[in-house]
Amino acid sequence: RLNELGTDWSYPVHLGVTEAGEGEDARIKSAIGIGSLLADGIGDTIRVSLTEDSPHEIPVAKALIENIKKTSNNEHRTSNIELSFDPFSYQRRPSETLAVGGIGDPGDQVRLGGAELIRVVVSQSNFDKMAHKIDKMGDYKPEIVYELADIKEVDPRDENAIARLNENSTSQLVTVKDEVDLPVISAFRLLATRLHPRHPILLKDALRRSTANDKARMTNDERSPNDRMTKEQPDASIRGSGFVIPSTFDIRHSSFLQTLLTASTNIGSLLCDGIGDAILVQGEEAPGQALRLSYNVLQAAGSRIFKTDYVACPSCGRTLFNLQTTTAKIKEATSHLKGVKIAIMGCIVNGPGEMADADFGYVGGAPGKVNLYVGKTAVKFNIPEAEAVDRLKDLIREHGKWTEPASTVRGLEVVS
Ligand code: SF4
Repeated sequence: RLNELGTDWSYPVHLGVTEAGEGEDARIKSAIGIGSLLADGIGDTIRVSLTEDSPHEIPVAKALIENIKKTSNNEHRTSNIELSFDPFSYQRRPSETLAVGGIGDPGDQVRLGGAELIRVVVSQSNFDKMAHKIDKMGDYKPEIVYELADIKEVDPRDENAIARLNENSTSQLVTVKDEVDLPVISAFRLLATRLHPRHPILLKDALRRSTANDKARMTNDERSPNDRMTKEQPDASIRGSGFVIPSTFDIRHSSFLQTLLTASTNIGSLLCDGIGDAILVQGEEAPGQALRLSYNVLQAAGSRIFKTDYVACPSCGRTLFNLQTTTAKIKEATSHLKGVKIAIMGCIVNGPGEMADADFGYVGGAPGKVNLYVGKTAVKFNIPEAEAVDRLKDLIREHGKWTEPASTVRGLEVVS
């Protein structure tokens, strides 16, 4: 119908991820949704929607736009290449499974490729800094050391090198060489197009290792409101272990925000194309943060679920409760429920329709009253707000998805 109105109409495209939630995960989801389309040249206006005070959305939006220069480059055109994936529907690139040396006892192996989990790879130097704490790292464990996994590095434009790999009937883990002067997304798409599907692919967030020594991002100074705003609960898998992955995402240090958005856009975009059997975050120097970012990008892309997932609206004039404090309360009560997806929506006007595929919903029904949902079906109505988090826990119990949390959180220890 719009086309029928005439060829002189010009329709800008607006991009947004409206129920991203808050904190680091929300920034990652926004980068995957908005950043990957911007990198493809799609989008004329954007809005980053966070369940935080609105001014916090602006630096993220600006950084995403600034990032286009890094994630795309129209000087590097690759013409007449047939895509190896369908940009309109998701299908994981088929590859053969293979076993590579894992972390643990000598001889331990990790399977990847095919339908196996997408694996998390770290460099030897980062692994050395974490090795003494591996058994305390819960679900954030590194799985493969780059230098020990016999990974083949290639420039995807090098047809002879690709031909040699394709002639090899034994599957090998392959990645793009560092310092290849292509944008990351283009480089890996080209690799996926030219490489025989038997070979699994290792994705990187950047084609060079970070050498920055940004002491600021390694501090645990939590005095500013921005620090407190982004402070997250330790993940359930490491509660009580004495080990805490650095969990303060300090938005003031734009270098980490840039790293996070770049990693999320590059790796997230490729994962959504169905490309990638393992990932390496090497643009972030601090090993704990790089590891946490790796797992969080996998979760946000829906590629590997290892913790509770939250969908939360950004709030507006219709919101019937304080979304920020309520989201914090619900997270505190449920963040140990691995694989459960919970939506927190401010009103019943638009909330239920925007809960995506959440398992449970906590939705403002009337002033001071909350409705609870299982999937998209409302099952409890007009619960007084003071009781609603407990009733949500009861509902999760009734549906067999509740487990008891580890009871204690011991000290804070930072690996960075
Ligand atoms: S309160 Fe309702 S309309 Fe407003 S952002 Fe939340 S779900 Fe959307």
